[in-house]
Amino acid sequence: MLYVSTRGEAPAISFNDALLAGLARDGGLYVPERWPELPRDTIAGFRGKSYAQVAFEVIRPFVAGSLKESDLSRMIGEAYATFDDPAVAPLAKLEDGEHLCELFHGPTLAFKDVAMQLLARLMDHVLAERGERVTIVGATSGDTGGAAVEAFRGRDRADMIILFPDGRVSDVQRRMMTTATEANIHAVAIDGTFDDCQAIVKALFNDHAFRDRVRMSGVNSINWARIVAQTVYYFTAAVAVGAPDKRVRFAVPTGNFGDVFAGYVAAQMGLPIERLIVATNVNDILARALATGAYEPRAVVPTASPAMDIQVSSNFERLLFDASGRNAPAVKAMMNDLAKDRRFSLPTDVLAHIRKLFSAARADEAETVATIKSVYAAQGYVIDPHTAVGVHVARKMKGEGTGPLIALSTAHPAKFPDAVEAAIGVRPALPGHLSDLLDRPERIERLPANAGAVARFVSERSRALGAVA
Ligand SMILES: *Cc1c(COP(=O)(O)O)cnc(C)c1O
Repeated sequence: MLYVSTRGEAPAISFNDALLAGLARDGGLYVPERWPELPRDTIAGFRGKSYAQVAFEVIRPFVAGSLKESDLSRMIGEAYATFDDPAVAPLAKLEDGEHLCELFHGPTLAFKDVAMQLLARLMDHVLAERGERVTIVGATSGDTGGAAVEAFRGRDRADMIILFPDGRVSDVQRRMMTTATEANIHAVAIDGTFDDCQAIVKALFNDHAFRDRVRMSGVNSINWARIVAQTVYYFTAAVAVGAPDKRVRFAVPTGNFGDVFAGYVAAQMGLPIERLIVATNVNDILARALATGAYEPRAVVPTASPAMDIQVSSNFERLLFDASGRNAPAVKAMMNDLAKDRRFSLPTDVLAHIRKLFSAARADEAETVATIKSVYAAQGYVIDPHTAVGVHVARKMKGEGTGPLIALSTAHPAKFPDAVEAAIGVRPALPGHLSDLLDRPERIERLPANAGAVARFVSERSRALGAVA
């Protein structure tokens, strides 16, 4: 399987190369040259299989020609052994026909672990095989950073510099990045928003000389391997509620569009998905874009669901690529408009294509709190604010379609204890392995929202071959 760039001006490359590259050199995102399809019988056969077995079947076609099947299978086994539930992504039932898929059983209590635990192992494996090192530079709106630090700490083939918006991540999220003692981890508080952090990372990636010198690589959701790892739980969850005999709906708390795009991939592979419901908080660019066709970032508003406080959803570009009939020049034109005018318009046919499968709506802060309350009152079940956004929007959209509805639960409530306690008066406790997190010493660097300053910092810390100290 080869991977092509959404902007059409970078050569097609292998899975392993896309894994290490992150962003393509033309500024685009890598997507597989075609969607592999799983026969209906194969999908039906997932019932009763372990998460790791399903993961192997789903991921295998994407790594064909790059990884040995025995290596893939071993790494999947190791990655999901770090989860505290044998089902990895178990379902919980709310109302009739309404389920939660719990994606927070990994080491940092966020769905990001599902992808990151596998990604770190894949990278380490490929780097060892090639005798190379990388410098990973990433931006996080909260959960990616902790999951990445946990997955990469102590791995000696990678140095990690992770940028987060100062003061805009929760204490628990920050501490998951800043309390790692390993020398290869550098957590950097940026004086700005998540979009500033993401823009800095993009700027460094687009500086090819710099990028080559430090062997820069990315683990943000622009990295294709993350998307592919997330595709797996759409299959396990759908099959658990009756797919492929039933068509299933998913409501996905959305920020950078990586998670819900993984659902789109599952649909392209043959999973009968009736609707993909994009749930945003008041940073609702995606809900507005699907309603009006105008993709128009506004100022980011801090909310109780900070991992979704995003106004430029990078992975949306992958959907635009597919929805425009894989028209790379058209995607490039839209992205150029965005860079130049801070907006672009979705062509009518592209918008119509997207609306066939996707719906979108938002939950404001009051609706988020009300949903945490109502789920607790009715089911005695505690959800975090990100999950609440998904549940609220799922309920709002109940009339669209008839299939079982699965809301993805993207974070453990103990990651956002203040918001949860304010809503229901109950403070969720951190699980045992993290109970001393708030007492561990922190190590934080602080930098302005300036690509040059970050580039200097990265150069000084990188131990990759070719780096100038
Ligand atoms: C990252 C994150 C999201 C958003 O996922 P995207 O793939 O960026 O759309 C939602 N909820 C939580 C808790 C997250 O960490």
